[in-house]
Amino acid sequence: MKISKNDLIFLPLGGSSEIGMNSNLYHYDDNWIMVDLGISFADESMPGVDILLPDIDFIIEKRDKLKGIFLTHGHEDHMGAVQYIWDKLRAPIYGSSFTISLLKRKLKEVGLLGNVQLHTISENKVINIGPFEIQPVSLTHSIPDPLSFSISTKSGTIFHTGDWKFDNSPKVGSEPNYEMLKEIGKKGVLALVGDSTNAMVEGTTQSETEAFKGLRKTIKNSSGRIFITCFASNVARVKSIIEASLENNKKIFLAGRSLNRAVEAANEVGYPVEGMETSFKNIDKYKHDDVVIIAGGSQGELRSTMTRIAFSQHDRINVKPGDTAIFSSSKIPGNEIAIDKVHTAFLKKGVKVVTDEDELVHVSGHPGKDDIIKLYKLIKPQISIPVHGTPKHLREHANIAKVTGISLSIEPENGSLIKLSGNSPSIINQIQIKSSVPDGSQILKSDSSIFTARRRLLWNGSVSAVIMLDSELEIQLPIKIIQNGITERDDEMEWISEVKSDIEETIYSLNKNELTDDLIVEQKVRSSIRSVTKLLFKIKPLIDVHVLRVL
Ligand SMILES: [Zn+2]
Ligand SMILES: [Zn+2]
Repeated sequence: MKISKNDLIFLPLGGSSEIGMNSNLYHYDDNWIMVDLGISFADESMPGVDILLPDIDFIIEKRDKLKGIFLTHGHEDHMGAVQYIWDKLRAPIYGSSFTISLLKRKLKEVGLLGNVQLHTISENKVINIGPFEIQPVSLTHSIPDPLSFSISTKSGTIFHTGDWKFDNSPKVGSEPNYEMLKEIGKKGVLALVGDSTNAMVEGTTQSETEAFKGLRKTIKNSSGRIFITCFASNVARVKSIIEASLENNKKIFLAGRSLNRAVEAANEVGYPVEGMETSFKNIDKYKHDDVVIIAGGSQGELRSTMTRIAFSQHDRINVKPGDTAIFSSSKIPGNEIAIDKVHTAFLKKGVKVVTDEDELVHVSGHPGKDDIIKLYKLIKPQISIPVHGTPKHLREHANIAKVTGISLSIEPENGSLIKLSGNSPSIINQIQIKSSVPDGSQILKSDSSIFTARRRLLWNGSVSAVIMLDSELEIQLPIKIIQNGITERDDEMEWISEVKSDIEETIYSLNKNELTDDLIVEQKVRSSIRSVTKLLFKIKPLIDVHVLRVL
């Protein structure tokens, strides 16, 4: 596939037709820029794996032409992969002051700070890189200082929204720059590449100030000690919780690595978060009921402070019947079971659990249908390209665009190479995309056979067999069989004896040529173990066979 020099190309590597792992490329005049480099979270189909990284093989090959990585905001699904794969790209990174401040802290933790060229940008200054003119635009979201990018080339302008909402009283940071959006729309926009997360939600998304009011009411009416969790980087929410708690004469303690990192970054860039203690040193000086604890772990993460408190695994924090646990957050799809376990643990201790289904303690960071319509009316693009969602979300976003009079929508998958310049903008190629996985110190492709082996080990156990053959090609007894995770006690004795006799039969059935070939012997013994195990237990373990020759 050939990309011509003056093709204006949009190529999503992650985040299109899926939730998370957002990463996008733009091409013009033989130059590339990237917007976002995020992660997503692995499910139980990949044992031992927590996170997934986007497939950047396409751009690694031409990394000398990659002029910059522009980060829309500091959420993990937009910048979480930088610390793992930036080294393969080595392009300078651009982001708002809060985004860069947060990124700096993460890079420092992995020893990369100092290697990466970081640029703080704002809507006050256009960035010219090669053939691209990039105008950052302030919108609002559930993290300070999110940016949209208006990316102009001689073949047209693309407006890339990033995650956004219209919040006219965001509590932290500036309001959306409606004037600038209108100006961009007036100059003419070829395509809008936009957030589809809440495309299925009617109406407009509520302001962060509404969440503050709800929290104020909930905290006032809550009994006992209050444990409250929210998304760590939602600095406005942390401030709201502190403000609402102080109004009720509570003493506030904040705990969690991500929460502290976000608060430090906010303080550094001029959004001070004050009025709480960040260590539990003094907690015993206060009456149990006078304390509010802001804890990380809104998604039921196993090692998080909120989860450890719920399961009485925290050495400094105790829970009493009559206390209150507030979840000032939504459930990210896939985390429901983990979160419910934490709720149940609290309930069993007599703690009241309050979620966004009970009280207005959370608002979304993404635009509802009416907000999306409002943005299209301001930007007036010729083409709509929905991203940041499953195919269903993208379709719904395209339907909304249609309502506002946009006749052409292109709904991409990861790897859809979209040519926007020329007479008929469309997907001109589909690149094979395979996400990868950081696994200890190595990075593996997600379809690696290692994961098939791990799944087998996890669900079916493993068998090792050692077979000794002498110079006469006769089997030497005993055959050694070791199993893990398959069976126990009497059943194990029965299984081992069945396996051994089946192996003996198998060996006797082989001819001289077969017996001199280790690979054939291994394969025959393996299938013998497999069939006996399947017959007895209906499982397919991972089987390892060693053939030893005694001369
Ligand atoms: Zn996102
Ligand atoms: Zn976000």
